[in-house]
Amino acid sequence: TSPIRIGVIGYGNLGRGVEAAIALNPDMQLAGIYTRRPPAQLKPGNADTPVYAMDSLLSHKGQLDVLILCGGSKDDLPSQTPELAAHFNLIDSFDTHARIPEHFAKVDQAAQGGQTTALISAGWDPGMFSINRLMGEALLPDGATYTFWGKGLSQGHSDAIRRVPGVAGGVQYTIPVEAAVEKVRSGVRPELSTREKHRRQCFVVLQDGADADAVRQTIVEMPHYFDEYDTAVHFISAEELARDHGAMPHGGFVIRSGNTSAQSKQVIEYRLQLDSNPEFTSSVLVAYARAVHRMAQAGQYGCKTVLDVAPSLLSPKSAAQLRAELL
Ligand code: NDP
Repeated sequence: TSPIRIGVIGYGNLGRGVEAAIALNPDMQLAGIYTRRPPAQLKPGNADTPVYAMDSLLSHKGQLDVLILCGGSKDDLPSQTPELAAHFNLIDSFDTHARIPEHFAKVDQAAQGGQTTALISAGWDPGMFSINRLMGEALLPDGATYTFWGKGLSQGHSDAIRRVPGVAGGVQYTIPVEAAVEKVRSGVRPELSTREKHRRQCFVVLQDGADADAVRQTIVEMPHYFDEYDTAVHFISAEELARDHGAMPHGGFVIRSGNTSAQSKQVIEYRLQLDSNPEFTSSVLVAYARAVHRMAQAGQYGCKTVLDVAPSLLSPKSAAQLRAELL
């Protein structure tokens, strides 16, 4: 059988990650990268990968089985996903949790109209964590679900500290509070406040002459971002920032703690420990792109999420092989 032809839409962190993930999946082929920037500006990992301007995408309809959208959730995906779902099978990683129902409705309308399969909000959260929250609730109806994130670099919080007057650069890590995690794992189903679940750690480079105490104060009191957390601010040099904080680690765990009878506590835990958040997210997108291709071939059109996909559709192996090897 011929490989699944993938078009990558947007070439940032996820775009590069998708390129790397496709290289690990022989049943898939990177047919082209599509960008809003001048194509010559992009340097794909494999110099043979064709890079096209976004304008040429529609003329390649029929040569692409699934698009993997790698744009940002804030400004790119809300318009790109519905526009492209009218013409192509696709997948995105839209992660603005509160706006998923609205995004779903727009993409569903476009995909129903175009008879395409469009899977939104794949990745790890939303994505793999969502599946594990569903499993926990369904298997242990009498219980509580806990999601902890980290240790991980938060792009949004890092951007927020970089905007503080006097700050030349910086990063923010979200860290689960170990005592809270242990309490949850013990099965006692604690009620935890925001502050009790996570703490925040900032590494900040000051501008010349900036007042360190004033910068620290502005950060720890910043509404929504830091005021509800215990936040530690460490001042470092520009060299240290570049040397020690260039990676994008992340991860976390979903824990469901429940009872099946008064005596029997049951605890389920799913854990991710990621050196590279974008590379892992891209790996999830590529596996789900395979499922999208199969669902489209089966005529299952419209907008989908990871909650709608049968696990066997993710695997390159046949159903018979999966039954023999994994059950
Ligand atoms: P980037 O900012 O790296 O890339 C987003 C887009 O910006 C690209 O598609 C690209 O489009 C453009 N771009 C990238 N680099 C440049 C540049 N140097 N100059 C100008 N434009 C550039 O975002 P990420 O890939 O890191 O993340 C994308 C989204 O993935 C995030 O917004 C997040 O919401 C989501 N995500 C979801 C997760 C999940 O678990 N569901 C986990 C992690 C991320 P173009 O080539 O067209 O210019």
